[in-house]
Amino acid sequence: MNEQEIRKLITVLGKSLFDRRYTAGGSGNISVRIDDGILTTPTNSSMGRLDPDRISKLDPEGKHLSGDKPSKESRLHLAVYRSRPQAGAVVHLHSPYAVAVSCLEDIDSEDTIPPLTPYFVMRIGKLPLVPYFPPGDKGLVEAVAKVACEYKAVLMAHHGSIVTGQHLEDAVYSAEELEETARLFITLKQLNCRALNDQQVAELLRKIA
Ligand code: ZN
Repeated sequence: MNEQEIRKLITVLGKSLFDRRYTAGGSGNISVRIDDGILTTPTNSSMGRLDPDRISKLDPEGKHLSGDKPSKESRLHLAVYRSRPQAGAVVHLHSPYAVAVSCLEDIDSEDTIPPLTPYFVMRIGKLPLVPYFPPGDKGLVEAVAKVACEYKAVLMAHHGSIVTGQHLEDAVYSAEELEETARLFITLKQLNCRALNDQQVAELLRKIA
């Protein structure tokens, strides 16, 4: 895919996520790693109304090269790319059910959502939680960078999710799977629920390895 096609795909998938309420207002951002840097959604932009020609372009160190000013959260994306060389795209959402899980009192911060479906196990695996930091705090960037090398996705307390993929569609599909499984988890929370057992999870992980 050339740069122009990637810019178009960012706008198409951004609108699709926005229209289905995976993100609202000016929240959430998408980035894609390209040969000479990173394309990312601009600051204060709605994912529902992105313009391919105004998408921000940064060099690999984060210097703004062209397009509108990048989202302040592009620092999070850059940190994830540095920690996870295999990541080709990053999707960050303030999606309601993932945020709900991140606010639960009795959550295991190393493993927030149980293996409710094989699709969650194969797309996300274990989902860790990093502690709360105020918006813009560089402690958050450091905390996410620390776990991103080991996990495909990270939950940030009282904030949202960061999901990586080999390419943009992969990251978007995984972000959707995460939100839908978070919704299942919250829905089932007060019910007697059975997750996949250790053997079933191990079998799936062997299959995708
Ligand atoms: Zn955010």
